[in-house]
Amino acid sequence: MSQVCLVLFGAPGSGKGTQAKLLNKALSLAHISTGDMLRESVQRGDELGQKVKAILASGALVSDEIVNALVAERIGRPDCAQGFILDGYPRTVNQAKIVSQMLNERGVRVLVVHLKVDYNVIVDRLAVRRQCPVCKTVYGATEAGLPVMKCSADGADVAIRDDDRPEVVRQRLQNYDNQTAPVLAFCVEAGYACLDVDGDAPGGPEKISEGVVASVRKFLSSSGQGA
Ligand code: AMP
Repeated sequence: MSQVCLVLFGAPGSGKGTQAKLLNKALSLAHISTGDMLRESVQRGDELGQKVKAILASGALVSDEIVNALVAERIGRPDCAQGFILDGYPRTVNQAKIVSQMLNERGVRVLVVHLKVDYNVIVDRLAVRRQCPVCKTVYGATEAGLPVMKCSADGADVAIRDDDRPEVVRQRLQNYDNQTAPVLAFCVEAGYACLDVDGDAPGGPEKISEGVVASVRKFLSSSGQGA
C-alpha cells in the first residue's frame, strides 16, 4: 500500500493549520508544518533557530535549501509510513519541484487541498489570532469577535505571533501571490488531483473539515487505499 500525501495549500490565515490538525485526527496521517518546525527551532535557540529568527519575524521566506532538508528528513520518520499532511510547504515552485521528485521516487499518491479565503477576511482573522507560548494552541476570535486572552489548556497569557501583525501580514500575502500561488499551477501541470475548498464556509472549521475528510476518503478509495 503506497503512502499518501495531502498538500494543504492556501494563503497564510486560510486555515491550513486548523484543517491539518482535524485531518490528522480523522485520518491518522502525520502533520508536517514547516512553520511550526521553524518556530520550534527559534524557541529552542538552536543553530537553525538563530539563523531563521529574523526572517520569520519579517514575514519573508526561509531559503528553499533549509525547508527542503527539514521536510526530506521529516517524511522519512516512522509516523509518516502511512502518509502525511504538508502544511505550509511547498511554498515556492523550486520547493514544489524538489518535493514532487521525492514523492514520485517513493510512489506517494498526492492530493492537493486548496483552501480559498478572501484576503480581507484573512487580515481580520490574523489580527485577532493568538497563540499560547507554552503549548502552541492557536486561538481565533471569541464569539464577540475579540482576541482570546488566556490559554484554556494551561492558563498562560496568549500572544499575537510577530508575523501576524498587520504590516507583516501584508508582506506575507504579497509573498504568497508572488512566490506561492504559482505552486498551484505547477501541481496541476504535474497531474496531481486538486480539491478546491471554501475556507470561509458557514459552520466553521469543523464543518469544512467534514467535507474535506469525505473527499479525501473518496480519493483514497478511488486510488486503491481505504482510510
Ligand atoms: P507559517 O506558520 O506556515 O505561516 O510559516 C511561518 C513562517 O515560517 C513563514 O512566514 C516563513 O518565514 C517560514 N516558512 C514556513 N514554511 C516555509 C516554506 N515552505 N518556505 C519558506 N519559508 C517558510
